[in-house]
Amino acid sequence: MADVKSIAVIGAGTMGSGIALTAASAGFQVHQIDVSQDQLDRAAGYHHKTLSRNVEKERMTQAQADQARERIAYQTDMAEAKDADWAVEAATENADLKKKIFAQMRETFGEGVVLASNTSSISITDLGASVGDAADRVIGMHFFNPVPVMKLVEVIRGLATSEQTTQRTIELATAMGKTPVPANDRAGFVSNRILMPMINEAFYAWMEGVAEPEHIDEIMKLGMAHPMGPLRLADLIGLDVCHDIMMVLYHELGQDKYFPCPLLRQFVAAGRLGDKTGRGVYDHSNG
Ligand code: NAD
Repeated sequence: MADVKSIAVIGAGTMGSGIALTAASAGFQVHQIDVSQDQLDRAAGYHHKTLSRNVEKERMTQAQADQARERIAYQTDMAEAKDADWAVEAATENADLKKKIFAQMRETFGEGVVLASNTSSISITDLGASVGDAADRVIGMHFFNPVPVMKLVEVIRGLATSEQTTQRTIELATAMGKTPVPANDRAGFVSNRILMPMINEAFYAWMEGVAEPEHIDEIMKLGMAHPMGPLRLADLIGLDVCHDIMMVLYHELGQDKYFPCPLLRQFVAAGRLGDKTGRGVYDHSNG
């Protein structure tokens, strides 16, 4: 994509670090931004480890890995990325926080820069409304976890998103080696409208003693040909993220069936968030 050379990725957690690595591996300069230096350090560690493993497995040469690593700048101040040609927000799933970040993105980046969000469930139209006359440049660019592996990017157009923004997003996702698929701007879009209630129901099944977690996962794997059971997947996504998405579905769609299962709420309250904290439904402390 000739007119996009550098991408600002705001948020360096599970998704932001994956988006940054994918973009750098595809040849883009990357500004990896986070308010937390710890998260930036963790992202740099993850990039280093993943690129080294790619070299070991002969998926890329040492020189390619070094170049990808050198393309990523780690920054706590968004202003340092002001010359970026594209911006993707991948911060915590909270509408008020994202609206503040979008207002800052609108101030920071030049006219014509697309302001994309990796949100799993928050309305793209609402995010667009938070940046006034730049709403035509706001779009959902929903990557999947783990980003370097998963091919899909759900492309979500808000009410004000322009055709040009949509076409350029499809082009960029393709240039990053992904397959863009359109979805409309309704809570959870397609992916999480279907996936999250399934995960929530798996927690209910466990809470009500229908089966143990490993048996719930095994049944869904073998019976439905899912590559991973719903509880294992919840740990990978992050139980806090699952909880937050259910709350968005609950508020936006207004039905009790979307309210997060009490057991899921308990795990989140206890800080057992899945892979990222070493413990969730399962114990991941040995990696
Ligand atoms: P995460 O908790 O791992 O990371 C969020 C990051 O945002 C943290 O590093 C935090 O420090 C940072 N952050 C918070 N406020 C910030 C600010 N003002 N400026 C810059 N950074 C800030 O969360 P995640 O799982 O990476 O999710 C990020 C987004 O991606 C969410 O919108 C989520 O819904 C979406 N998403 C998540 C998954 C998944 O599987 N986890 C999949 C698709 C989409």
